[in-house]
Amino acid sequence: MTTRISHWIDGKPAAGPAEGAGGRAGDVFDPATGEVRARVDLADGPQVEQAVAAASRAFPGWRDASLAARTRVLFAFRELLTARKDELARIVTGEHGKVESDAAGEIARAIENVEYACGAAAQLKGGFSENASTGVDVYSLRQPLGVVGVISPFNFPAMVPLWFVPNAIASGNTVVLKPSEKDPSAANFIAELFTEAGLPDGVLNVLHGDKVAVDGLLEHPEVKAISFVGSTPIARYVYETGTRNGKRVQALGGAKNHMLVLPDADLDAAADAAVSAGFGSAGERCMAVAVVVAVDPIGDELVARIAERITKLRVGDGRKPESEMGPLVTAAHHQRVESYVDAGLEAGATLVVDGRGVEVDGERGGFWLGPTLFDHVRPDMSIYTDEIFGPVLSVTRTADYEAALELVNASPYGNGTAIFTADGRAARKFQNEVEVGMVGVNVPIPVPVGYYSFGGWKDSLFGDSHAYGPEGFHFFTRTKVVTSRWPEQPAGVTLGFPRNT
Ligand code: NAD
Repeated sequence: MTTRISHWIDGKPAAGPAEGAGGRAGDVFDPATGEVRARVDLADGPQVEQAVAAASRAFPGWRDASLAARTRVLFAFRELLTARKDELARIVTGEHGKVESDAAGEIARAIENVEYACGAAAQLKGGFSENASTGVDVYSLRQPLGVVGVISPFNFPAMVPLWFVPNAIASGNTVVLKPSEKDPSAANFIAELFTEAGLPDGVLNVLHGDKVAVDGLLEHPEVKAISFVGSTPIARYVYETGTRNGKRVQALGGAKNHMLVLPDADLDAAADAAVSAGFGSAGERCMAVAVVVAVDPIGDELVARIAERITKLRVGDGRKPESEMGPLVTAAHHQRVESYVDAGLEAGATLVVDGRGVEVDGERGGFWLGPTLFDHVRPDMSIYTDEIFGPVLSVTRTADYEAALELVNASPYGNGTAIFTADGRAARKFQNEVEVGMVGVNVPIPVPVGYYSFGGWKDSLFGDSHAYGPEGFHFFTRTKVVTSRWPEQPAGVTLGFPRNT
């Protein structure tokens, strides 16, 4: 019998109507075997209502829970998550396909966000000005928004929900989390751990589903804010629809990240970085390096070193410790990524390493594509312009730094970028001139630590707040300023605009 994955509402599993009785469900695959391992409930209107109603009911109590009480839950959650991280990593690998060590890395970064939220009391302090005017004090309060929606993508099923949920609940909000329907189990595991950590029922709810669930949240008047992460077209749609419905929205989109390699760079370090950041998680990362820009004359040498490293990569089931790169998430995504390899060849790029038809021991049914490398890629080719989100790395060459910078800045995306060089002045010039939200200097995947904030520019983020860190607390709170006086005598009637004296 296939496992059924249900919503988590009001602190317990909440199955929607069964399939055949009006309910909808979707397949969840084991990407290494291609088999269906579970069916996940897909919410319709009534389940959206149920989840939002639970979060609404929980809000007044949670808003007024003391900072100490909220913080205690977060500390307890952090302990539970740390103790059970291997279990969660196995859940991620089972549905996403990434190797377990990579899943463990995702969880380690998620724990950083939980730890940051444990410092909520400091983040939520307001300001106080005594005697702003004679006998008048002015102070600010940071208050929660209410019910907030978090909508996450398939590629980080544990980390991306935990970019938002800890800060949202630490700030006193209640949450409806709508994870990706491709790998939904991590969200339920997280919600269960929160309940075990003492989070009151209804503060965090998990609603599984597709566009119907997302639209339900975007249109629901009780939902005050949406944090979204996914592809650019959907991020734009979520931003436009959510803001049209009066909500605060941050919508993080797709990416096409460039890594510049200047002629003075350590080429071995650059090749290591390109391979790690190009093929880790089979390229299914929004901070993956998709394009290496080799500045003349190092192109041939760099491509040779990248190719040499690729041939040593071990592709296999993520549950096996020797595997370095797992399968793609679904058959449909596999097909899409492979079609880009055909498109690159047709457009005239040089296929240096072909990952099609990769043989993986005894795992014929999985969604396998080996690491693939193209050289002499031009900016008009679809393998250059489109986010492929798979293990396909492109190398393009430019005559100098200026031409390389122009390429990066011409991209509609602006998520991450990196420069590899031995010249500090060149790196400093690049960080100043590049139009990208997150920059690495000799660091290929510059995901900011939990006490900064994560976010791209241009079509990689719609809205004005980045995710987690200080901007996370900013997003999940609104400020109220109180002007207060306790006069000994009535002030008397005065119709003039109040001045400070
Ligand atoms: P996706 O856009 O297909 O899905 C993201 C979420 O939106 C899912 O919960 C999904 O159910 C929902 N959704 C899908 N289609 C929808 C529709 N038509 N209407 C409403 N909701 C819809 O993205 P994905 O394939 O799950 O994830 C990969 C994408 O996410 C890549 O583009 C990647 O770059 C991006 N991503 C960005 C960041 C970032 O921080 N910028 C981080 C991780 C992933």
